[in-house]
Amino acid sequence: MQQSGLSPSTVAPSHGRARRLAVVTAAAVVAVLLAVVTVVAVQANFASFALPAPPVTGTATSTTEPHATPPGTGLAVGSGRPFLPAPEDGHISEGTVVTPDDDDVPAIARMDPTVLAALREAQTDAGAAGIPFFPVTSGWRNEAYQRWLFEDAVERYGSEEVARQYVATPERSPHVTGDAVDIGSLEAQLWLIEHGSRYGICQTYANERWHFELATEPGGVCPEMKADATA
Ligand SMILES: [Zn+2]
Repeated sequence: MQQSGLSPSTVAPSHGRARRLAVVTAAAVVAVLLAVVTVVAVQANFASFALPAPPVTGTATSTTEPHATPPGTGLAVGSGRPFLPAPEDGHISEGTVVTPDDDDVPAIARMDPTVLAALREAQTDAGAAGIPFFPVTSGWRNEAYQRWLFEDAVERYGSEEVARQYVATPERSPHVTGDAVDIGSLEAQLWLIEHGSRYGICQTYANERWHFELATEPGGVCPEMKADATA
């Protein structure tokens, strides 16, 4: 080996290079660690920001209702979950146009008759105002479907507490009792928000522009909206 012949004067600079190399290596390791920590922090920040976003934020461009097209509708196929909502559970599949007149659709047929009658009357009058019909994205749902929606929301939002802000439990959902309807077009939603009280129909949750219930007498005043489904 060549080292055996090296004098002390040639060894010393070699040690110096080794020290510099060690310093540079340590600096590089620190830089990489900092980069990793930064990336993780940014991702965590993004995740914590993105997760609580509601399925539909109420923007004017959004005309679909999250209950009818839950995030799990597509995911559940491969999720291993045994239940998938079917029309007989009250499910209205995305792309299917259903109106309050569709008696052959369980989501409509199993709604409370009084609620349905009020909705049909409103729809008729809205027609004169240029709203062709009320597209219903969800009406009656059975318990299994509602539970599936809720469990899907728990997965999506990470906790039951947050999920309850967007999806009611089967025990609390007015959809399960047939007392609620979700309307899928913005113009129909806005018409109902403005004129629904004539028929006793009111938006009941401030964070669900599409969700209506019979909440006052025809011609009455709608009660103050609840903030969300937890209220
Ligand atoms: Zn609803």
